[in-house]
Amino acid sequence: MTSPSMMKYRTETTHCPECLGDGTLTYERPEPWVSRDTPPSLEEYTRECWACHGSGETKVDEIDF
Ligand SMILES: [Zn+2]
Repeated sequence: MTSPSMMKYRTETTHCPECLGDGTLTYERPEPWVSRDTPPSLEEYTRECWACHGSGETKVDEIDF
């Protein structure tokens, strides 16, 4: 029988894997298609990282059995 208290919890703060510690993510979106003959170019825009909410770090909970 295994008791939960036998498990070892470890919390580490690491660079966010999504933004690599930047806290922001760069996305691309097509510009409005103004001409039928010319495909829209991509416009870059930056948003706060959804994974770390701009902190650039994430806490990783590891459970060692
Ligand atoms: Zn992030």
